[in-house]
Amino acid sequence: MTDLTRLTLAQARDGLKAKEFTSVELTQAHVDAVARAKSLNAYIVETPEKALDMAKASDAKLAKGEGGALEGLPLGIKDLYCTEGVQTTAASHILEGFIPQYESTVTSNLWRDGAVMLGKLNLDEFAMGSSNETSYFGPVVSPWRRKNSDAKIVPGGSSGGSSAAVAAHLCLGATATDTGGSIRQPAAFTGTVGIKPTYGRCSRWGIVAFASSLDQAGPIARTVRDAAIMLRSMAGHDVKDTTSVDAPVPDYEQAIGASVKGKVIGIPREYRLDGMSPEIAALWDQGVAWLKAAGAEIREISLPHTKHALPAYYIVAPAEASSNLARYDGIRYGLRKTGKDIVDLYEKTRAEGFGKEVRRRIMIGTYVLSAGYYDAYYLRAQKIRTLIKRDFDLAYESGVDAILTPATPSPAFAQGEKGSADPVEMYLNDVFTVTVNMAGLPGLVVPAGLSSDGLPLGLQLIGRPFEEETLFSLGEAIEQAAPKIVLPEPWWG
Ligand code: GLN
Repeated sequence: MTDLTRLTLAQARDGLKAKEFTSVELTQAHVDAVARAKSLNAYIVETPEKALDMAKASDAKLAKGEGGALEGLPLGIKDLYCTEGVQTTAASHILEGFIPQYESTVTSNLWRDGAVMLGKLNLDEFAMGSSNETSYFGPVVSPWRRKNSDAKIVPGGSSGGSSAAVAAHLCLGATATDTGGSIRQPAAFTGTVGIKPTYGRCSRWGIVAFASSLDQAGPIARTVRDAAIMLRSMAGHDVKDTTSVDAPVPDYEQAIGASVKGKVIGIPREYRLDGMSPEIAALWDQGVAWLKAAGAEIREISLPHTKHALPAYYIVAPAEASSNLARYDGIRYGLRKTGKDIVDLYEKTRAEGFGKEVRRRIMIGTYVLSAGYYDAYYLRAQKIRTLIKRDFDLAYESGVDAILTPATPSPAFAQGEKGSADPVEMYLNDVFTVTVNMAGLPGLVVPAGLSSDGLPLGLQLIGRPFEEETLFSLGEAIEQAAPKIVLPEPWWG
């Protein structure tokens, strides 16, 4: 039998329906691949027994011609999603040993549709980071390497376990989350597809909160079609999340292959940053040419408040994080350090439980929310957020259907190469992605080429609210036009 981990999610689905193989065979192939790939450190917890039990149940359904949209398909779950009875840590020491008694709505939706869980994927601690180096469980290593180098390359962050596992065929697809770029940047760094849907499209219930007004769930997959299939199952209204939207979920897969003729694509002037690498500029121009060739109309647009997005994000996100993370006190979840009194217990637990980047965010967040600074920082950042959203509204009102930008300012870098001396160097990774979270819009990243040193590069499409279908159609047009990105031979086992 050919290696079942080489299939796309759609091919695996069709193969199961046609009884070419069973879910147990498909799942076993992935369980074995996961077991061989320890050097990537993509999974924090592996659940092979659970996976095979779920696969058996799926096979029984498939044998009767029953089963949901994802019946029998093995997936990885970012360890930010609470999973009933399976440790959920957000890659933090403070949650080590926390076993939720409930299941997040998004993962419940996946199991409802028949998906199989392979385990919990590594991430930056509390989803704060762009390289997966802040995880308490150690960094994830990308399956990609630079030409003629064995330096360990980062898979992006915070969903770096998800992107590395999908790229290295350690699952058919993975869940991820995106607060400032954490689905799209890791997808770009690993040559995979990631979509952050419109804010409210997926329920946030049961996902460990980072910055609640920005967080969104979404998939990382190997093709645009696979991402569309996964999103359909993940999305939907949930009474347990009042910010989730009560609107029907389209069959996103129908958008694959739809014509993009006449679609108006905005090219925002302000994204052409000073000192932008020629390689990224050329990739962007190439994307424009592909969409034009597919029949789209290209229009230059202006999003004048873009330059304020990154500083405003790094006020709003830490502010919300400092409030969300107040609940980790050593009493209710995970780690507890005893102290001479209750305050001492809180302080000792939090000092030991949180890593350096998380502590930095909490300090920034409490500072910008404190009396005397609230107006100068937090309130001003919220005003900027409104202006950023208005820039996009005006572009869409003028007839633009979607916006094309680079996904990241550079290809992936090596471990330890960025941000160790100055955290802002790491934050600059998010320059093209945070605007989308600030405005609550959908954003899709598709692989589009390789850098001069042989690493993947991605393009980003930003859509109108709840028009993910347009992004899937346009994304597939780029996917069809772009050179196929082929991962080098597996070196990780
Ligand atoms: N890199 C960004 C941050 O560290 C985004 C993270 C995310 O989207 N979760 O805040």
